Amino acid sequence: MARYTEAACRQCRREGTKLYLKGERCYAKDKCAFDKRPTPPGGAPKRRAKLSEYGLQLREKQKVKRIYGVLEKQFRHYFDVAEKQQGITGENLLALLETRLDNAVYRMGMGQSRKEARQLVLHGHFLVNGAKVNVASYQLKAGDVISVADKSKKSAKFKEVVESTENRAIVPWLEADLEKLSGKVIGKPSREDIDIEIAEHLIVELYSK
Ligand code: SF4
Repeated sequence: MARYTEAACRQCRREGTKLYLKGERCYAKDKCAFDKRPTPPGGAPKRRAKLSEYGLQLREKQKVKRIYGVLEKQFRHYFDVAEKQQGITGENLLALLETRLDNAVYRMGMGQSRKEARQLVLHGHFLVNGAKVNVASYQLKAGDVISVADKSKKSAKFKEVVESTENRAIVPWLEADLEKLSGKVIGKPSREDIDIEIAEHLIVELYSK
């Protein structure tokens, strides 16, 4: 499966913002590469070039794709779905990305990063409403119950993950019980629930050209 291969921290430096791709390390200022060196990767230049309107739109789209680990074709599909839904397209787009199963696993603290959460889902460690789901992009809806499969609950991996994420704040649209390794979708994420700096209107403008 195609994935971003550029080193995670270089992606943050390229986008000029923290993308939170490496789990708990991203929250420690003394360990985060972007906090220590927010300049673009590679040699000179040390300052970012001023971008055109199109350049800004393109970078914003690229940034969101990197955050959620989604490639162009799938991202475009999310946009097309978001456009057909009622409400504000940009907000619909972000809600669709947030309600992917891999993102929910990360948000519940059962994956240290979205990338790790995706791997855990792909390896069949999670159930949705009692049935195994190993599709990272699985779209969750209000009322869905997510749990770690019984046979995976005793694994050292989940112990390690939960210990490292236990202080992470849970987003309002999810419930999580890290002792039971389960959680529930309470509702659709609102724009205020998404704590990432994203100018989604730029993406809408880009795709609406
Ligand atoms: Fe980005 Fe910092 Fe996390 Fe590296 S540690 S992925 S630079 S937020």
